[in-house]
Amino acid sequence: MNTTQAKELKELLISAENLAVVVHQNPDGDALGAALALCEYATQLGTATTVVSPSPINENLIWLPHYEQIFIFDEEDEKQQKYLQHFDTVVFVDHSSNGRCGSITEFLTIPMERRAFVDHHPSPNIEVKIAISKTDSAAASCIVYELLCELKAKITKEMATCLYAGIITDTGNFRYGNGIAQVFRIASELLLLGIDKEAITQKIYYANTEQRMRLLGITLKDKMHLLGKNAAYISLSREDLDSVGASYNDTEDFVNYPLMIKDVYVSAIFIEKKDYIKLSFRSRGEFDVNLLARNHFNGGGHKNAAGGRFYGTMQEAIALYSKNVIKK
Ligand code: 5GP
Ligand code: MN
Repeated sequence: MNTTQAKELKELLISAENLAVVVHQNPDGDALGAALALCEYATQLGTATTVVSPSPINENLIWLPHYEQIFIFDEEDEKQQKYLQHFDTVVFVDHSSNGRCGSITEFLTIPMERRAFVDHHPSPNIEVKIAISKTDSAAASCIVYELLCELKAKITKEMATCLYAGIITDTGNFRYGNGIAQVFRIASELLLLGIDKEAITQKIYYANTEQRMRLLGITLKDKMHLLGKNAAYISLSREDLDSVGASYNDTEDFVNYPLMIKDVYVSAIFIEKKDYIKLSFRSRGEFDVNLLARNHFNGGGHKNAAGGRFYGTMQEAIALYSKNVIKK
C-alpha cells in the first residue's frame, strides 16, 4: 500500500463535512462491504458519512453491519437529487469508470480536489484527486483492509465482518481471484478479529429465494445453450422471469454455471430489461471478457468477469457474442 496515498485519503476523510461513499449499480458484497467498512472508519474520524447506492440492495446483504447508513438513491426523485448536493466529499468504491454509478455523478457538486476512488478494476477513467487503483487485488475489500492497516486504524469486528463478506463475494468463497495468497492472509487476519465466518457464509450463500431456485431449474434445462465445445450462454426473457415470479436479482451468479461444463471457458448471460439487454460474462483461463465487454457491449470489468449492456434485440446480442467467442 502506498503510504502517501493512504495518508492523503485519511486527510480527505478528516477534512470532509459530509462524506458520500458511492458504490456501483447493483452493488455486490464487495462494493458494500468495502464501502461500509470505510464508512465506519470515516465515522471514527468524526466525519458524517453516508454510503450512497444507485440501486436497491440484494436481500442476502441487508444484514451487513451499518446497513442503515446506506442511502438508496432514486434518480427520479427531485428532492433526492438536491440532497446529493449537500455532500462536499466523495469516495467511489469498487468502481472507477464513467457511468457505473448511474446518474449519481450528475447530481454531485463536488470539486475534483475532494474526490477519490478505491478500486480494483482495470482501466479507471473517472477523474479524481486521489486514485487508489490496485488491479492486482482480488477485492476492493482487500484494498480497504490494507488502507486501514497502513493508517493504523482500529478495525472493529463490524468492519472485519463487512470486509470478509466482500472478500468471499469477489473470490467465489476463495475459489478464484488475483493475489489469492494475499486474500488468505487478509482473511486469516479478519478471522483473528473474532468474526463469525459461518454466519457470514450462511447469510451470503444460503439465502436464495424459492423463485430463484425454480428459475435456476428452468435455466439449466432450457435456457442454457452451447456454442461448440468451448463457449456457452444463457438467455432469459421477461416472461421467463415472470413465469416463476423471479426478479432480476434472482439471476445473480447464474452466468457461472455454464463454466462448470468440461471444456467451456467462456460464458455469458443475456437478460431482457426494459430498454436494453443486460449482459454478464465469465471466463476461465486466458479468454479476456473485459475486452469483449468493452469492445462490443458498452461495458467492462476484469479479465475473467465482466458485464455490459446491449441496445438491440436478444437475437442480435446473441449473434454478436457468438461471432466474437467462436472466432477465438
Ligand atoms: P456482474 O456480471 O457480476 O454484474 O459483473 C462482473 C464484473 O463486471 C464486475 O466487476 C463489474 O464491475 C463489471 N461490470 C458489470 N456490468 C458492467 C457494466 O455495465 N459496465 C462496466 N464497465 N462494468 C461492468
Ligand atoms: Mn469488487
